[in-house]
Amino acid sequence: MLSSDFMCFITYFALTMKQDLPRHKGQRNQLVKELIAKGIRDTKVLKAISIVPRHLFLDSSFEAYAYQDKAFPIAADQTISQPYTVAFQTELLQLKPTDKVLEIGTGSGYQASVLHQMGVKVYSIERQKELFDQTKMLMKKLGNNFIMKYGDGFAGLPTYGPFEKIIVTAGAPRIPEKLVEQLALNGRMVIPVGSGTQEMKLVTKDEKGEVHVENYGSFRFVPMLSNRNS
Ligand code: SAH
Repeated sequence: MLSSDFMCFITYFALTMKQDLPRHKGQRNQLVKELIAKGIRDTKVLKAISIVPRHLFLDSSFEAYAYQDKAFPIAADQTISQPYTVAFQTELLQLKPTDKVLEIGTGSGYQASVLHQMGVKVYSIERQKELFDQTKMLMKKLGNNFIMKYGDGFAGLPTYGPFEKIIVTAGAPRIPEKLVEQLALNGRMVIPVGSGTQEMKLVTKDEKGEVHVENYGSFRFVPMLSNRNS
């Protein structure tokens, strides 16, 4: 006969052990169709979104909505980006398998996991300690072993650069100089710039080191803030 404590433990374990089930896969395929309808074309991006289990990156109270094309709150008053935004930014990066990619704003780890799933080398910086610790633990559990740093994205990661690609997932007040410095020749950086609503900007550095900026429409992100918080 099993003790009631043990039964309680089993129930608790069953409830908290989140899984990736066939119905989740079906919901992801549905989401991919929606993203195609909204104009996403890069098959490698769509493939990664069909694989990464977004419901595991959200609080369980949002699990039922994880595959809607919406942003949701995560810890420390931050948000997990809308799948369309993740797909749009990733597509703009035009990833190559040999790319070293720097992400600013790890948040839930979802965007970084999509990049990781695409086979590139990912470095991701988060300034919120609570979120950083929580996401680091989750990524370990999921086996997503990209490099995570607790720090200020405005400074980038000079010792690991230059990066062929940089993606900023918080609304930046301006294009940070240090990130432009750490962008490789022929590199691409995708960054939303502005307060309130942001303009998505594609910053490219040509083979001579000249920098060009193009606009790609309006988006809404939580703000990119200076300094780490502890
Ligand atoms: N890419 C995330 C989106 C997170 S929202 C995801 O897929 O879930 C933006 C994140 O940027 C927040 O977690 C916020 O704390 C972080 N952030 C804001 N300013 C930052 C900075 N200067 N350096 C690093 N991270 C920053």
